[in-house]
Parts: sequence; structure tokens; C-alpha cells
Amino acid sequence: NKSLVWLRRDLRAFDHAALHHALQQSKTVYCVFIYDRAILDSLPRQDRRVGFIHACVAELDAELRQLGGGLIVRHADAAVAIPQLAAELGVDAVFANDDYEPQAIARDARVARALAAQPCLWFSFKDQLVFDKSEVLSLSDKPFSVYTPYKHAWLKKLRAQPACTAPLPVAPLAARFAAPAGPAALPTLAELGFEPDALASLAIPTGMSGAAKLFEDFLARLANYASARDFPALKGPSYLSLHLRFGTLSVRHLVRSVVELIDRGVGGEGAPVWLAELIWREFYAMILFHHPHVVGAAFKPAYDAIEWESGPRADADFAAWCEGRTGYPLVDAAMAQLNQSGYMHNRLRMVTACFLIKDLGIDWRRGEAYFALHLNDFDLASNNGGWQWAASSGCDAQPYFRIFNPVTQSEKFDASGRFIRRYLPQLKALDDSEIHAPWLVPRMLLEQKGIRLGRDYPEPIVQHDAARQRTLARYAVVKGPH
Ligand code: FAD
Repeated sequence: NKSLVWLRRDLRAFDHAALHHALQQSKTVYCVFIYDRAILDSLPRQDRRVGFIHACVAELDAELRQLGGGLIVRHADAAVAIPQLAAELGVDAVFANDDYEPQAIARDARVARALAAQPCLWFSFKDQLVFDKSEVLSLSDKPFSVYTPYKHAWLKKLRAQPACTAPLPVAPLAARFAAPAGPAALPTLAELGFEPDALASLAIPTGMSGAAKLFEDFLARLANYASARDFPALKGPSYLSLHLRFGTLSVRHLVRSVVELIDRGVGGEGAPVWLAELIWREFYAMILFHHPHVVGAAFKPAYDAIEWESGPRADADFAAWCEGRTGYPLVDAAMAQLNQSGYMHNRLRMVTACFLIKDLGIDWRRGEAYFALHLNDFDLASNNGGWQWAASSGCDAQPYFRIFNPVTQSEKFDASGRFIRRYLPQLKALDDSEIHAPWLVPRMLLEQKGIRLGRDYPEPIVQHDAARQRTLARYAVVKGPH
């Protein structure tokens, strides 16, 4: 019997659920990656993520060829192309890994229906998460909506079922891989309609090898993660989100490695804190799965009654936020980081999101969409979770009256202004104490340092204290036991 493995956001050739099960259950296994026109056609031609995927696909193909197989690569509407390819190859089954986004669930259901008519079987497996769907439930068998008890239950389950992170090997059965017929050449980015150099200047490590290198590098810093992770000028976090998004590494491997360090007592303070971040990722994936209405609406419906700013002033404010022209240096430096690199530090995602929603009064969905377009690691569940957290409309969100002060956040998390200076070199000459709020520096002093507000750097587009009052009034509609 023959099968086809459809790789999507799992671009690796080791510890891979769909590959593992296909190889176990079939005599001949083909592998396919589709550049899905249903997703790619609407993206800007400079999209960095396509460059990232392109590099990962090339490495994956080479690795699969080493193992005796290789990738069939198509540029097509995947929902149509997969049943077609299954028929062409005469396979009995298509294997894939679960995707929990509502559109992906609908697409996979369409594919499974088309395959059933051929007839051809459809199998899909948990791979992206350690625990998914309803695996971690409350004592009353309900999905959690608060993170901390979810985390405790998640950890308890992991201890009870350590096999959950056991590797799902690929190599031992690699003799069953079939090499794809036809030419080996993969499509170039230009052939796919994308600009080839959008990613090149960023030196982002790609593919399985890039992910492994980043993880190794991070393990050496893991013990310090707890103390370093909140300071954007430091190399504190792992920078693995992009690789987790596209599955160039196995989350089972990450969790297993960190738990081993914790058990051996060598993970320091950082290891459990980092593990807790991986659990946030699983938490938001679970929330999206059980509450798909969060795409486009508040988790807590009462928050849909909030009236956001609209009209030309709000549009201008939104543009200033997007382009890093708000006059608040930490916010602007963060947006510059996003626009230039496709990455933004977690602390800054919270600060910029809160600023857009609670200083500018702009609908969180506009910010969510901007992040979705620009973040290399964009993940619907985590991005939506992060935005709804900032908007206070999410499960376990920050209370609506908790409003970050962008200046004190700056003083606390970038005290010496190192991060700000990296992205806003025009403010370099300001002292550490001045750089967080340049409008408070006497004009003469500013001019002595070669800075004129309005020319070299914007005046603040909003006054935080007044904005705070407006936000409290705006959120009054949700006051009560939500
Ligand atoms: P590390 O600190 O090394 O964390 C390790 C991993 O844990 C991350 O790679 C990520 O997979 C997971 N993780 C960490 N923090 C969170 C979190 N708060 N929620 C869910 N998972 C988490 N993360 C995304 O992967 N994609 C997004 O689109 C995304 N959008 C966000 C939007 C907002 C408004 C906010 C506040 C957060 C968002 N996050 C998102 C979560 C977090 O900011 C990033 O995962 C993190 O900054 C990625 O950097 P890292 O890999 O170096 O993280």
C-alpha cells in the first residue's frame, strides 16, 4: 500500500507524527509540500515568511533525499491539489498533522471529503502541541479559560504521561520513502511570485539546522531566561517562535529537553519559566480550538460593546502607530523592530498593543491584523490571545483598568535606552533619563543635542493621562462581573 504525507507547518524530517505513522503503516511513502495559493496569493510580494518557508523547504527536500525520498512541490490551491495528487500517485491514504485554525480545519475537512470520494483515506495527527483539543480539562471536564490552573493540569498530565514527549522517529523506516518522479528542481521564489531578497538581509537561521542551532545557543542562556526575558535590549528569549510556527523543530523535543534539565536540577530559574511560555502557546491553541469565535470577536462578548475610535483622526493615529511615529520612543522603537525584522520582543508586543488599544482607543483587531501581516512568527492563536489579553477582552486577560504607562514601561525595561537607541538613532544623544520622554526635556537642551521635536522626532500624538481617562470611560460598558 502507498501513502502520501502532506507537510504544512511541520517542515522537518525527524520526530514527526505524520511521517512516523505513514512510514509505519505503508510500504511506500511520498511527501508533498504545496505552496498554497489560497494563502499566498493575498500576501505582499515582499513577505519574509515565504522566503523563510522557501529556505526550509529546500533543506527539507535535501534531507528527505538523503533518506531516500524527496519532496513533491506544487504551487496550487492545496485543497484541490492534494486529492488530485493522491489520485495521480494512486495512494491509499494521505497523512498530515493537525492544524487547529478554523480555516485550516475547514480546508482539511474539504480535502478529507474529496479523498473519501476517490476513495482514499485521510489521517491526521497531533504534532504541533504536546497536549491539544480536550486533553487538558478542568476537574469538571471543561476546557480551562484561565491559564494558571491550565498550566498546573498540563504539568500534572505531563508527569503522568511522560511518553507524550517521546520522539516519533522517521529514519528507521526511511527505506519506505519513494523518491518523487520528475525533475528535482524546486520552484524559485521569483517563480512563486515573491521577491527573493526580502529575508536575506536579516540573517535569520532557517530550516531544521537553523532551529537546532538557535536552540543550542538558547540552552546555554536558559538558566538566565527568567531574569533576562523582559528586557528587549538583552538576548534573553530563544527566538524560536518562527521555528515553532513552521515546525522546523519538534515541540516534544523542546519540552523533553527542558524537563530533563529541571529534573537534573540544572535548568536554573529559567527552565520552568520558559516551559511556562511553551504552555501559554498550548493554552491559546486550546482556546482557539474550543472558541473559534475569538477570530474577529471578543472572547468575552460584553467587550464587543466597546466603541472604538474611528474616522480620520483614528486612521492617522493608527498609521503613526504602524510606522513608529507616536512620539513615545519605546513604542516607536518596538514598531521599528517589527517593521525592519518581522520580530518583536514579547514585552514590547504587550506595550505596543496596550498603547494602540488604551492610549489611542483603537480597535484591537486593527493591531492584530497589522501584527498578522508583519510578524514572521505570526500564529493565529497566540496573536489573537496576545491582543485580547491586551484589550482585556480575552480569557485571563489583564483587567481593563490596568493600563501600561509607556514611559514607565520604558524606564523599567529599557532603563539605559539601549534598545531605543538601536532603532531610533536620532535620539542617541539624549541621556538615559531623557530618552524615555523627549518632550519633557527643555527645548533648548534638546536643540543643543541636535534634536528638534516635530522635525527629527515626533511630538507625542497623545497625552497618556488624558488617554487613560478616556479608556476608563470607554470600558465602562463592560464594568461588572466579567
Ligand atoms: P520565548 O520567550 O523564547 O518563548 C518560547 C516560546 O514560547 C515562543 O517561541 C512561543 O512559541 C511561546 N510563547 C512565549 N510567550 C508566549 C505567549 N505570550 N503566548 C503564546 N506563546 C508564547 N507568539 C507567536 O508565536 N506568534 C504570534 O503571532 C504572537 N503574537 C503576539 C501578539 C501579542 C500582542 C503578544 C502580547 C504576544 C504575542 N506572541 C506571539 C507571544 C510572544 O510574544 C512570542 O511568542 C515571543 O515573543 C516569541 O519570541 P521567542 O520565541 O524568543 O520567545
